[in-house]
Amino acid sequence: MPLGEKDCLASYKVLVVGETSVGKTALINNLVGREFRESMVPTIGVDFVKKIFEVDGALIQLVIWDTAGQERFRSITKYQYRGVQGIVLVYDVTNIASFSHLTYWITSIQYEVAHCHSGRGRYEPIPIILCGNKCDMDEKRRVKASKGYRLAEKEMAFEFFETSAKTGTNVFPSFQRLAYHVTDIHNPKLMKSYHPYMIRCYDDTETTDEARDHVKPKRTTTKKDKIVPKEGKKCVKWKKSFCCGCFR
Ligand code: GDP
Repeated sequence: MPLGEKDCLASYKVLVVGETSVGKTALINNLVGREFRESMVPTIGVDFVKKIFEVDGALIQLVIWDTAGQERFRSITKYQYRGVQGIVLVYDVTNIASFSHLTYWITSIQYEVAHCHSGRGRYEPIPIILCGNKCDMDEKRRVKASKGYRLAEKEMAFEFFETSAKTGTNVFPSFQRLAYHVTDIHNPKLMKSYHPYMIRCYDDTETTDEARDHVKPKRTTTKKDKIVPKEGKKCVKWKKSFCCGCFR
């Protein structure tokens, strides 16, 4: 029997954003096995698809929202960003403007959701996967892959892929890595490789406390213990019983 939604241990909301015509809809269509079309009717409104991924032994579901159609009016709203746990940010390697406008997208993501409140008294990061799409059109390329890598490294600290919605290059791996990062942030215990002593700088749960206790054993003697004078013993340095605490 094929695996379904009910077999998933978690479900996460993901948004695909970027300039018009960079291939957001085409990427989503490729991911879910729909046919590639050279000319698509622009997406109006918001559509979503569901896709199941295996992340380090756990089945999780991404609910992937397509924002195509709204970016033209810069109208991706707070409402759509609400509850988002991961983002795929797309530009077109044949369109230099779509790359330079990434600063707008990064700023707006940072403003809206860079850290979303988990509701458990802490803020959690939103992983962003940067995709340089249409890499099959090498003869028309205007943005080198190295530029994408550098931007991802400098601004986002997550990952970068060059993709093609036409040939399918790196489409699945991009979403798979996003699924990994989202699970790692929100439900690391679902993963086979999870270990309670793994230190997560953004996660301040009991896991971190356990890990801290493990790495740094509790002191058994205090400074105070050290300067308690012992009967009949004198410091070799000051020749007194109250001294620097050497008591040799
Ligand atoms: P959106 O507005 O960002 O959703 O962009 P679309 O998915 O509607 O794609 C815009 C145009 O780019 C369409 O004509 C697609 O056929 C084309 N396109 C999208 N992705 C690719 C790709 O990877 N390679 C090529 N050659 N064309 C693409």
